[in-house]
Amino acid sequence: MAEIRIPDLGDFDEVVVVEVHVTEGDSIQEGDPILTLETEKAAMDLPSTVSGVVENVVVGIGDKVSNGDLVSNVSPQTGQDSEIPMKSNDDEPEQQIESSNATDQPMQSEYDYDLIVLGAGPGGYAAAFRASDLGLKVALVDRNADLGGVCLNVGCIPSKAFLHAAKILDDSKEAEISGIKFNEPEIDLSKMKSWKNNIIKGLTGGLKGLAQKRNVEVIQGTATFLSKREIEIIHEGKSKKMSSKQFIVAVGSEPAELPFLPNDPRIIDSTGALEPNEVPSNILIIGGGIIGLEMSTIYSALGSEVTIVELTKDLMPGTDPDLVRPLEKILKKKCKSIMKSTQVISAEPSDQGIDVSFRQDDKEFSEIFQNILVAVGRQSNGNLLGLDAIGVNIDERGIIGVVQQFSTNVESIFAIGDVIGDPMLAHKASHEGKIAAEVVSGHKVTNDVRCIPSVAYTDPEVAWVGLSEEECKAKGFDYGKGIFPWSASGRSLTIGRNEGMTKLLFNKSTKKIIGGGIVGPNAGDLIAEIALAIEMDCDVSDIALTVHPHPTLSETVAMAAEMFEGTITDLYIKSP
Ligand SMILES: Cc1cc2nc3c(=O)[nH]c(=O)nc-3n(C[C@H](O)[C@H](O)[C@H](O)COP(=O)(O)OP(=O)(O)OC[C@H]3O[C@@H](n4cnc5c(N)ncnc54)[C@H](O)[C@@H]3O)c2cc1C
Repeated sequence: MAEIRIPDLGDFDEVVVVEVHVTEGDSIQEGDPILTLETEKAAMDLPSTVSGVVENVVVGIGDKVSNGDLVSNVSPQTGQDSEIPMKSNDDEPEQQIESSNATDQPMQSEYDYDLIVLGAGPGGYAAAFRASDLGLKVALVDRNADLGGVCLNVGCIPSKAFLHAAKILDDSKEAEISGIKFNEPEIDLSKMKSWKNNIIKGLTGGLKGLAQKRNVEVIQGTATFLSKREIEIIHEGKSKKMSSKQFIVAVGSEPAELPFLPNDPRIIDSTGALEPNEVPSNILIIGGGIIGLEMSTIYSALGSEVTIVELTKDLMPGTDPDLVRPLEKILKKKCKSIMKSTQVISAEPSDQGIDVSFRQDDKEFSEIFQNILVAVGRQSNGNLLGLDAIGVNIDERGIIGVVQQFSTNVESIFAIGDVIGDPMLAHKASHEGKIAAEVVSGHKVTNDVRCIPSVAYTDPEVAWVGLSEEECKAKGFDYGKGIFPWSASGRSLTIGRNEGMTKLLFNKSTKKIIGGGIVGPNAGDLIAEIALAIEMDCDVSDIALTVHPHPTLSETVAMAAEMFEGTITDLYIKSP
């Protein structure tokens, strides 16, 4: 007699039986569903582990079951009592998977690898390492010698190093208010760059070591697909072909360009801005998004006269304006000028600098700048790999189409990170990389995140997660909000700041948290609590009744919840 039992439920202690598919006397085949179980996140079929005749079923609809509980006894035809993992209904891809043709399917032994990961950024290296930990033979290919992609080499890490230096410079000026006066700081740019490069070296070198320890083969070269199971890698004029059973494409993105700008070394992108040869006396930053504003924070602190130009009517378009306002107020003091609703229409290089023409409403005007930094977004690298030639769905912007488990419409090819589109963030890429690696390794997992936090590491920082207030309004959600102004936070005042605020958004009827935003120093660290609250489906009391340490900025999260609940004691709200 074979006993069908509830297998390991992973994160869940208990699940509910929502359907029973067999009754006593039924003949069943191995893999046929016996029950459907439901968790908060998904419905799952529990398949039979044997073929045979059902002797009995000992659970019914509505029963709660947990790991190891007996479900049914089956008289096996084969006598084989193997355990099969649960199959999630969510595992089925939503788009049609195209089968590979015969020439694309050599015997498994003919593949060089189980998995080749293309691109060694935060998405790619996470995928390669996780797949290797799960037992696959993995190669990690990148056109650069150093691992870590944009994030480690020319993105998150170098920008945050420079932002830290900028903070020291700004803090040294602001310290006067607390009775400490510093002399004008001296900036040694080449030392600052070596310090930044050493941080990068430490991190990328660490990744190399982690790859070696895991036996992930790191291959340098530019990859293109020859077929659904084979790539060509070109490095220093030499070509090499490699086959793999599966691929994860994680080739990331590049700075978007403005095609009308001339080719001039004084016009740089974010990569150039993070490796400056000198601090320019003045710089025009085209683009008032996160990267443009982080660069404005850096260059204004270094001493450049900064002008920001933004095409739309708001800085950081898409972010709630009340979160951006305190930042804009401070940037206005630090920058020469911030021009919104303004378009750059041309740029002419000359000996004096770059003569830039702008259009604002129906006015046109021009100004000469020493440097221009173009920060107008990022462009996916997806269309550089020959993916369309092998039938992978990819749009005109190079964004690769994937379903929930990051599979493309071609069975052997998965894609993750910036190359599958917004939000283009490192933590999104690495989360996706791990899920994709688990799927490729045969695990029944899916991407099931409720929210991905975004952070601008400006001064003050701006961070948000879940639904924004603007989205709630646009979608007609019945939401409520609690705002705690940092001018009432003891901790904020002791660090010399009062402009911040913490805002929480709740579903008005269930009181569950649906989103939040913070502006103020360390907002990027603080937002994680709100992300966790959304993932954990917290309601306002869960947050308000969590005892936060005092005096900290983290208290403002609980106090924003109290503001919504009406239980705040640190402020006085007049009864209606
Ligand atoms: C200035 C700046 C600051 C940023 N700051 C932050 C931040 O603070 N927080 C945050 O979350 N995100 C930040 N980002 C965004 C973040 O860097 C990206 O979202 C993240 O790096 C994407 O990871 P990825 O793995 O998808 O790809 P990438 O990091 O872009 O890596 C892709 C890799 O693929 C390689 N590659 C490309 N084509 C090929 C090919 N044909 N063959 C072989 N290899 C190839 C590239 O060399 C690269 O190494 C920042 C970006 C910039 C530019």
